[in-house]
Amino acid sequence: MVSTVGQFLHEAETHLSSHSPSPRLDAEVLVMHVCGLSRAELLTRADVELRQTSLTRLQTLLARRAAGEPLAYLTGVREFWSLPLRVSADVLIPRPETELLVERALAHVPPAASWTIADLGTGSGAIAIAIARERPRSRLFATDASAAALEVARENAHRHHVTNIEFREGNWCAALGKERFELIVSNPPYVCEADAHLARGDVRFEPRAALVAGADGLDAIRTIVADCPRYLADMGRLLLEHGHDQAAAISRILIGAGFRDIVVHRDLADLERVTEARRAT
Ligand code: GLN
Repeated sequence: MVSTVGQFLHEAETHLSSHSPSPRLDAEVLVMHVCGLSRAELLTRADVELRQTSLTRLQTLLARRAAGEPLAYLTGVREFWSLPLRVSADVLIPRPETELLVERALAHVPPAASWTIADLGTGSGAIAIAIARERPRSRLFATDASAAALEVARENAHRHHVTNIEFREGNWCAALGKERFELIVSNPPYVCEADAHLARGDVRFEPRAALVAGADGLDAIRTIVADCPRYLADMGRLLLEHGHDQAAAISRILIGAGFRDIVVHRDLADLERVTEARRAT
């Protein structure tokens, strides 16, 4: 069967329309990925015939997308903080709202400072790599309980020439050793296990351990908040991403653990998304 780029895009868009919220974009991204085309080239090559090998590969990816697999797992890449990062099914796909966590973290770290910073549950390494690149004099420790995730994170750090991150395998703070940190950041799992959105769309294919944290979604955050004071320097800060309806509960947990100066930040969708707090001396 012969198909041009334009014909494939049209058919793929139709095929994906009942499976994806963005059928045209998905089809375009798959063609760019398989054929190695830029967006501009895609527009000018509608009449070019697809090679049989490309077409076969595209049909396989199209079927996987139609079955619900996230586009980022099909192409193996997702951009975060303007950095293309490799992603696999071993890691959560970096979300745009998580850039808020990076922004708030950077707001505290003076550019010339040599801070010691931890990223707990680093996954693809997105947060740690973004901070490490923006603050090259600081030293980061990025932990994850998954060896497979750390492999992806290490590869991403290498790809972006980042050498100021030490990756360590272990749950949350467990792998931090004896260091003291000026700043600890985390985008932990925070979805309730009964949340209906786990049964729909891309999240079905993401690691459950990166998404789900017990009945109220706060299990990981409770552990992190309880353990962090031992690892934070005096007046050191903890910054957490969380669900849009969890800020009040998290503030209570933080106060109970002796944190103060609690500030909640809203994301671009105007949802409470990041909470920061300071460890008391
Ligand atoms: N924001 C993600 C979602 O709702 C969850 C990410 C997380 O649990 N850290 O799919």
